[in-house]
Amino acid sequence: MNVAVVLYTSDLRLHDHPPLRAAMSSCDRVVPLFVRDRAIEAAGFTAPNRSAFLADCLAALDAGLRERGGRLVVRSGEVVDRVCAVVREADADEVHMAAGVSAYAHAREERLRAALEAEGRRLYVHDAVITAVAPGAVRPAGGDHFAVFTPYLRRWTELPPRPSAPAPRTLRVPDDIDSEALPERTAVTGTSPGLARGGEREARRLLSGWLNDGIARYEDTHDDLAGDATSRLSPHLHFGTISPVEAVQRSRAVGGPGAEAFVRQLCWRDFHHQVLAARPAAAAEDYRARRDHWRTGADAEEEIQAWKEGRTGYPVVDAAMRQLAHEGWMHNRGRLLAASFLAKTLYVDWRAGARHFLDLLVDGDLANNQLNWQWVAGTGTDTRPNRVLNPVRQGLRYDPDGTYVHRWVPELADLPAPRVHEPWRLPAPERARFDYPDPLVELADALGRFRKGRGIE
Ligand code: FAD
Repeated sequence: MNVAVVLYTSDLRLHDHPPLRAAMSSCDRVVPLFVRDRAIEAAGFTAPNRSAFLADCLAALDAGLRERGGRLVVRSGEVVDRVCAVVREADADEVHMAAGVSAYAHAREERLRAALEAEGRRLYVHDAVITAVAPGAVRPAGGDHFAVFTPYLRRWTELPPRPSAPAPRTLRVPDDIDSEALPERTAVTGTSPGLARGGEREARRLLSGWLNDGIARYEDTHDDLAGDATSRLSPHLHFGTISPVEAVQRSRAVGGPGAEAFVRQLCWRDFHHQVLAARPAAAAEDYRARRDHWRTGADAEEEIQAWKEGRTGYPVVDAAMRQLAHEGWMHNRGRLLAASFLAKTLYVDWRAGARHFLDLLVDGDLANNQLNWQWVAGTGTDTRPNRVLNPVRQGLRYDPDGTYVHRWVPELADLPAPRVHEPWRLPAPERARFDYPDPLVELADALGRFRKGRGIE
């Protein structure tokens, strides 16, 4: 009997899972393993919303494995130690896992490979599991990654995708490998009240629903803040409960402008992953330093706090920040304008905002979060780094009847659009009716730095 271990990380599914398939084709028995990695916990990356969602994902993975005659093995501790311990217990010849993109993921792979090889065992790292196209699979002439999205999109689109694979029908797990109890969602405290449910079944339900009804209108409605007409697949893509390869293929099979626009967003995801894979330092350092002198000190700290609490006095920014607190998720247009408000209008270091997003976002993802923040801050891959989003114009354009603000800022529920986007313009007695803060800063002053309004949207 030969045995393989499949180390699950951000790929918590059975469908279209190359490491699992490869392990099953070369070995009779497989140990599906998830390690609750203490180093990730110590780095503060296990925010409550993601921990709760992860618990759902692990429970669903275990249930899916059990339906097929298997089960999930969970261990906690230092990841390389725990994997090697399971490998020894099962006398496994090989370990299969998905390739990651962060500096930590690269180091984990290297340490694991060295530890396994020292014992005469092998590590197989599989590409295009966490992304649709592997980082580095398309490169510009003479470069190791694309720094501009449009040429990346062109090359990415031309690349034939690998075929996606069904879930296995059955699998055999050796009997004598112990597992810790699975973490429970209900044991996690401090989660957002409106947090979504995780797990592969839920992910597949969402994707199918989206392809049947939603994707066709995506091109026209994806920026409509109140319409909430995006797929909400981001946490599932983050935890890998849906395969990005499968998402691209099934969307292309639907076809049409909506599907094309949606696949383009999936390409943005791959784009940021290939940037981070090539420049892991971009998780913390400016990708393109622009000699910014971010504001610091007590005033800036107070403003950051008001931004976090959704009390900036700019209704659409506050609505977005309150959606984040309530759901652990925020509409992309909300993310753009809330991030622009912090980094451009308040001129606060993007890292402070990115940290807060990572503390709350259920889809909080190093590649997508840090590089989108850098894009907005002008230190990233935006070819127009001086772009700044005016929260009033953004509100009027993307929440024209004020529904999004009314939903998340109930203090202003009785104030109709367009005035709801500029409550400070109301005559004093009327304004006094609303228990809502004055604007933190004057837009004209704050945006003065972007000379003659160039780049203001
Ligand atoms: P849809 O519009 O349905 O898009 C489908 C999928 O495409 C998304 O699930 C996501 O995987 C991908 N996608 C869409 N837009 C982007 C984008 N701009 N960059 C990369 N991938 C994209 N996304 C995350 O997954 N995790 C994050 O931590 C994250 N942080 C962000 C921070 C800021 C400041 C900004 C501006 C954007 C951030 N995004 C992040 C990207 C985007 O906002 C979310 O992916 C999207 O809102 C998720 O909702 P959805 O699944 O309904 O998206």
